[in-house]
Amino acid sequence: MTIIIAVLVTVLGAALGSFFNVLIDRVPRQASIVKPPSHCTSCGKSLPAWQNIPILSYIMLKGKCKFCGAKIHWHHLAVEILTPVLFLALLVIYGYDNLSFYKFAVMFGFLIPIFFIDAFHKIIPLVLSVPMAIAGLLFGLVQSGFRLHDFLLVYLVPTIAIFGLLYLLALAWEKIFKKEGLGGGDVVLIPAVAAYFGILHIPWVVILACLLGIIYFLIFIRKPGQVFAFGNFVAAASIIWALAGESVINLISFYPR
Ligand SMILES: [Zn+2]
Repeated sequence: MTIIIAVLVTVLGAALGSFFNVLIDRVPRQASIVKPPSHCTSCGKSLPAWQNIPILSYIMLKGKCKFCGAKIHWHHLAVEILTPVLFLALLVIYGYDNLSFYKFAVMFGFLIPIFFIDAFHKIIPLVLSVPMAIAGLLFGLVQSGFRLHDFLLVYLVPTIAIFGLLYLLALAWEKIFKKEGLGGGDVVLIPAVAAYFGILHIPWVVILACLLGIIYFLIFIRKPGQVFAFGNFVAAASIIWALAGESVINLISFYPR
């Protein structure tokens, strides 16, 4: 049974990865994600089914268009491998009978395209981050057993409070320094992530995102004055914490006092 589910998750993950690649290519251009069907962005020829198989097609075609030889961007292969691997990791950690497996799979489904779009274009489209926040809150409602008090305290109020705080911070920054400090996309992404983690885990995710950001800047020293894109670090920290957070907290609570 477990093996069947693992195979199912892998196949579904690879197929979803293929769809995330469409989002990564088309959402920043505000192009339709259904029309036209998969095609080469260089010569415009549409791809037959056998050139549309996740992972295998990229390898068979050696990363090039069959018709015009144009290079297919590496993110196609990376996302088609990364998505099933991350889904399998969630399955191993939570098991298919745990709601957290489905919750974090949905969160990953938004964060993977957001991560690559932010990395390539420095934007976090609201068409992804707003539905992500709504889905997270719905999971929160179910996970708090539909007890309104718990849902408000753990999920809804923290999410709205973080959004309000970041929004005011971004406004104040713009007023004082006459330029954008915190990216507009981050103002929605951070509360969207908070909706999935709930109040107890949010501080950990923020600390981890800051740590990742600092490490990145220490290794790749950037030009001063460059806009700080925090979204990638928030997305990466959220994925890491969804996979490792419980273990880290257990480790800390076993530590002798
Ligand atoms: Zn082509």
